[in-house]
Amino acid sequence: MKNLDQRNKIIEYSLKLNSTNLSPLRSGNISLRGTENDIDGYLITPSGKKYETLKPQDIVFMGLNEDEKNDPTNKPSSEWRFHRDIYKNKKEAHAIVHAHSPHATAVSSHGKPIPPFHYMIALAGGDNIKCAEYATFGTEELSKNVIKALENRSACLMSNHGQVAFGKNLEDAFELAQEIENICHQYTIALKLGEPKILSFEEMKKVLDKAKNYKKG
Ligand code: 13P
Ligand code: ZN
Repeated sequence: MKNLDQRNKIIEYSLKLNSTNLSPLRSGNISLRGTENDIDGYLITPSGKKYETLKPQDIVFMGLNEDEKNDPTNKPSSEWRFHRDIYKNKKEAHAIVHAHSPHATAVSSHGKPIPPFHYMIALAGGDNIKCAEYATFGTEELSKNVIKALENRSACLMSNHGQVAFGKNLEDAFELAQEIENICHQYTIALKLGEPKILSFEEMKKVLDKAKNYKKG
């Protein structure tokens, strides 16, 4: 089977969505940039399948310029449009994790960016974490909104839905999605205590400069 290692990697991380409760059962989706028969595209989880049942042949390859095939046995995630558009718009994106993680989803329902109440906001690439405007799942409109919220960012919230994160590989994309969930958990606690103090633009600029050399291994 073509791209067997990548297919197994996607299954390994889909099972992690389950075991870490980041996005259990069938919610969320995962993809990896790849090529098949010399066509540039991405491998993506199928639509509506329980992660615990996934087999390598269930993972769907989609060309970057290809629309969904009319084949019910080979149905990509309903969110293939925003996966495709992230790969088209961000050359540094090689893997994408979309999750309905509990705290990120709760915060997303407010439809607002997360301000820098903690310096770790910088992990998403800027001085806030943006929230994509709501649109029905699986639509071109949702994809447009996600691409807008990912401007100069590698993760964002999706209003009344969840979050999406990308990285240079699946390990990084998954870790970033976990960090976004942690930040949203902390933010929900902070909001319970009243209005949190927000770090200044100047301080976040310092943090963003320092963060460039932070991650080791
Ligand atoms: P899929 O099973 O089609 O990937 O849908 C899950 C999801 O999270 C839709 O936003
Ligand atoms: Zn979703």
